Parts: sequence; structure tokens; C-alpha cells
Amino acid sequence: MNTIQNFIGGRHIAPISQIYFDNVDPAMGAAYGQIPDSGAADLEVAVTAAKNAFPTWRDTPAATRAAMLSKLAELIEAHKEAFARAESIDTGKPIALARSVDIPRSIANLRTFAEAAGTLSGQSFKKDRSESYTLRQPIGVVATISPWNLPLLLFTWKMAPALAVGNCVIAKPSEVTPMTAYLLSELLNDAGFPPGVVNILHGKGASIGAAITRHPDIAAISFTGGTATGIDIYSNAARQLKKVSLELGGKNPTVVFEDADWKKTIDGAVAAAFTNQGQVCLCGSRILIEESAYNKFKADFLPKTESIAVGDPLEESTQHGATASKPHMDKVLSYIELAKKEGGRILTGGTRRMLNGRCKDGYFIEPTVIENLPPSCRTNQEEIFGPVVTLIPFKNEEEALAIANGTQYGLAASVWTGNAARARRMAERLDSGIVWTNCWNVRDLDTPFGGMKKSGVGREGKQRAMEFFTEEKTVTSMRT
Ligand code: NDP
Repeated sequence: MNTIQNFIGGRHIAPISQIYFDNVDPAMGAAYGQIPDSGAADLEVAVTAAKNAFPTWRDTPAATRAAMLSKLAELIEAHKEAFARAESIDTGKPIALARSVDIPRSIANLRTFAEAAGTLSGQSFKKDRSESYTLRQPIGVVATISPWNLPLLLFTWKMAPALAVGNCVIAKPSEVTPMTAYLLSELLNDAGFPPGVVNILHGKGASIGAAITRHPDIAAISFTGGTATGIDIYSNAARQLKKVSLELGGKNPTVVFEDADWKKTIDGAVAAAFTNQGQVCLCGSRILIEESAYNKFKADFLPKTESIAVGDPLEESTQHGATASKPHMDKVLSYIELAKKEGGRILTGGTRRMLNGRCKDGYFIEPTVIENLPPSCRTNQEEIFGPVVTLIPFKNEEEALAIANGTQYGLAASVWTGNAARARRMAERLDSGIVWTNCWNVRDLDTPFGGMKKSGVGREGKQRAMEFFTEEKTVTSMRT
């Protein structure tokens, strides 16, 4: 059994309660480690460490902070295989995906903000005899709370900008996937971060997560996770007027027109549907297809879906691993049952996949495609966050927009068409913080990132995330 510890004040320490709970490998359906069940008392120690570290860290030259972020990136790179393996075991995702996306992107996050440290600038104003300028300064002690689907990627995406601009961080990874954050904590002292600058608390969202959002000395929270949790955090934070950035759920449309480059579209729609077992906030879980191309789409999309290799996440050839936990598998399967009750026809998949050997008790679900459901039914309105997509025909652009925009969410959309003018029209009118035309999940870290409607509040991205983690002050003087 692998027992991990919190990282507070530069040291690994046990939770004050001495209580731990199981960390489960979802591909085996069995515990393989123990996680601290941290509580308010642990948080108090972490906040004190962070507050003590802040005055010196705030005044540390940006170039020194950048060097530490770069060193951390270098150290992760040196241990990248251990990180990829831990990511795959914790999440159930194929190790090939962890190697090619999660770990390199996490390293890129650290390097991006290392390069950006020290680049935030202010504005200056002159009116008659008054002269003013703005100063951006770190906030103090800030918190990051991240989910289980892309654990290291989102952990570093939040932590790096906070550190780059001079804050001390209390970071809480998901209890479902704590291992990569723990491995990272083992490298922080070697990267040169002073004690208390980064503190990592493991434990349950409902206890340590909620305590973080209520702590009076934590002035800002950057959260990625589900919409219901985001609403809870927003209301806790409102009582103390904390700054909040919320990256939440989605029910993203993939909109396919008959004139699209067909092979590219089918490949893109399959990737958007099933990458990481459909557990990416940006996944296209509703596929809207122009009526005239509906049968052609099914004829090409279904065989490609059925050819996805489901298997042991640690096998190099696996393309589709386990869902992240038993409760999550049960939730996804319950949505498949709901879809049937709502009149949905299962075209492929629809059940738990039982494997042999090491993974015989794992939480695998077949890539599942469903049709014959109205856009307004629960299956087409609620985020399932698993390998389940619905096919919905539409007659024209107007109807496609009405269906695409007809949910409470507005995170990401992709539009597939050979008509450039139509692509632009759709992009302008989709209620979506991110629109891809003829591609999916192409991420430029410099661009603003975030959702509309119930998919989030605020924008992340290189500049925006660093701005979020600062206070802006206006300094004015009068010329005499
Ligand atoms: P959750 O909202 O359940 O959890 C996210 C994080 O919040 C976890 O660390 C969790 O801890 C913690 N948490 C849970 N309850 C509370 C609470 N009351 N107060 C404070 N923290 C809490 O999301 P999931 O982990 O299930 O992640 C999946 C969701 O994340 C999906 O909805 C997905 O769309 C969204 N997401 C959004 C992204 C975006 O950029 N918009 C990107 C990636 C995912 P614990 O796990 O220990 O309970």
C-alpha cells in the first residue's frame, strides 16, 4: 500500500487526525494506496505556513520565481514515465494518453508561466494635472481546487500562474486522483521553492475542500470541477467577497454539416466524443448532424467507435481505459438506463465492459452511441461526463443553433463545414466560451479559456490567469 502525505511548510506530514482513506485503482477496482483525510486543523497549519512565506516570496525577483517553475518542469520531465504511470493508474486513462498529453502539457504549463512571470504590466493615465498608474500585485494566500479527469494538467495550470506572480498556494487535488500531485510535492524542495510557498492538502471535497473555500485568510480560489460544486464554492466565497475563477461542466455540441471534409469530421467527432473515456470537460457529447447527412454519418461514425481499443490502461495499445471511480461508473451507467427510458435507441455500446485478468473488476464502459432522443430530454441536457454520446439530426443552421444553445451550459463547441462564411456565422451565434471550426481541442495556452452560462465564471489562459491572481491598485499624484 502506497500511503501519501500532505505537503505543508516544505515537509511531508501526516494529517493531524491520523485518518486516511483508500485510493482506488479504477482499472482493477481495488485500493492500492491511502490518502490523508485532511480537515480544518491541517488547513490552519498550511495557511499559517503560507502566510509566513508570503512576504519573502512576494519580494522574490520574478526571474527567481521563474527559475523555480522551470526547474520543476525539468524535474517532472526527468521523471516523466513515473508521472505517466501514476496518472494512468489513478485515473484509469490509457498510459499512451498520459504520456502524450497529460504529462507534456503539465510540463508546458509550468514553462509557459515561467516565461510569463514578470510580464504583467499596468496602465498609465494623464488628465490635466493628475497622473496615475496601475500596479498589479500578488494577492497573498490563494487556493486551487482541481478535478480528477486531468489531474496533473489542471493542478499545474492553476498553481503555476499563482506562483509566477508571487502568491503562496494551498492546493487541493481530487481525492480520486491524488498521486501525481503527491509526486510533484516530492520535487518542490529540489526545485527551490521555499517552505510554505506551495502547500498541498489531500482529502475529501466536502470536508477539506469546503473548509478551504470558507477560510478567511484565503483571498482567492481558482476552481475547476462540476457546476453544482462550483455554485457551492461561489456562495461560500461570496460571504467573504473572495475572488473566484470557476471552470465548470459542459454539454458541448459537435455540429456537423454535409459539406464538411468528411474524414476529418468523423475522426474529429470520435476524438471529441471519447477522448479520456469522454471525461474531458471539452468533449462533444451531443453530435448534431445535418439531416441530409445523418445516415452517412452513422455509417462512418459507428464502425470507427466500435474499433476503439478498450483495455488495460497500462497496455500501450489501449485507446479507451476505465472510468475514474465506481460512483462515477454507476452514474454514467444510470444515464444510459435513463436514455433508454426516455426512448433512446442504443446504436453501439450501452453496457459495462468486463475484461479478464488484472482488470476483471475494473470500471470500464463501452463507447456508447444513442439516437432517437429529443434535444430537451434529460440525457441531452445534463452532463454525463463519460463515453456516451447522442446523435441529433437538424434541418438547417437556425435549428442547429437552437439545439446547440438549448442547454444551461456554454463551454465548448465544434463546427464542421466546408463553408467558411457559415463557420463564422455559427461561431458568432453559438453560446459557447470556446468554438473550434473544423478541429477540436486545439489549445493555444496564450488564448483566454472558459465557459459561458453555467459553464463558468472568468477566463483562464496565460495573461488572464496571472491577472486573476493579482490585485490591481491605482496610484495617483498631482503635478504641482
Ligand atoms: P467535482 O466538482 O466533484 O470536484 C472538483 C474538485 O472540487 C475536487 O478536488 C473535489 O474534491 C472538490 N470538491 C468537491 N466538493 C467540494 C466542496 N463542497 N467544496 C470545495 N471543493 C469541493 O468535479 P469532478 O472532480 O467530478 O470533475 C468533473 C467535473 O469537472 C466535470 O463537471 C467537468 O466538466 C469539470 N471540468 C471542467 C473543466 C473546465 O475547464 N471547464 C475542465 C475539467 C473538468 P474531491 O474530488 O476530493 O471530492
